[in-house]
Amino acid sequence: MSVVRTVLGDVGPERLGVCDAHDHLFFGSPRLPGQELRDVSAARAELAAFRASGGDSVVQWTPYGLGRRVADLPPLSRETGVLVVAATGLHQSVHYDDRTLKELRNRLAEVFVAELTDGIGTSGVRAGLIKVAGGFHALDAHARWTMTAAAEAHHATGAPIAVHLELGTGALDVLDLLCGELGVAPYRVILGHLNRSPDLVVHRQAAATGCYLAFDGPSRAHHATDWRMPDAVRALAEAGHGDRLLLGGDTTTAAARSVNGGPGMPYLLRRVRPRLAAEIGAELVERVMSENPGRALAVEWR
Ligand SMILES: [Zn+2]
Repeated sequence: MSVVRTVLGDVGPERLGVCDAHDHLFFGSPRLPGQELRDVSAARAELAAFRASGGDSVVQWTPYGLGRRVADLPPLSRETGVLVVAATGLHQSVHYDDRTLKELRNRLAEVFVAELTDGIGTSGVRAGLIKVAGGFHALDAHARWTMTAAAEAHHATGAPIAVHLELGTGALDVLDLLCGELGVAPYRVILGHLNRSPDLVVHRQAAATGCYLAFDGPSRAHHATDWRMPDAVRALAEAGHGDRLLLGGDTTTAAARSVNGGPGMPYLLRRVRPRLAAEIGAELVERVMSENPGRALAVEWR
């Protein structure tokens, strides 16, 4: 049976309900000093605000070593009634020190598999997806290494692979590597940040493979392209790819949280949902938020 692996255990895909398919409760990188998401009560307040807006589940794309605070996720999920899916995986090399990368060098796939099947660290909390990252219009050696390990872990467990596309670029390179060379079925791949590079032709070419396409944000850093998201979503829906679309808030800084005056997680329901309904109809938006995430994340775990 295909189930989604949440921090409280495996659930049927329909249980995800209205889902924020790409976001962060906790995140910390040396690249964003002073902007870490590590405050548990702020995370609880943000989740509660999302719940109050009608949200049912959140997928946290924070990978290995970037402050996931996995032990805090089950109580937060229980207290707020929002299901949470945690990730394993590895981000771009700039987010790690050399010692960490050296230590993982020969056992990355092993770490991913352990976090998906046994649990993350000693928490007992299992990851439900593998998050990796591409580069700007290309894949460097680090991206190839992490994607190779992700594919190996996918083949061992069935877990879906979610990809940070750098500034939304490199979608076809990622698909060539993961699905061409490494044999991952396209429907097990989720491409993220496509709104950051609104090339509607590339979006359509990527969608034609059968992969999932996640549109996330808005964020201050990507304001220049975020406003084109409704156009991109409409173009994909009109091309018949409505069943491949995913939406998320991708809150990565404390200032972006609704509890700190930013758009945060509730914005997805407060503004993105009605805006997209005006573009592709309320019925399809409902399916994008309530059916596609469960289908993208449900796995016959091995
Ligand atoms: Zn993210």
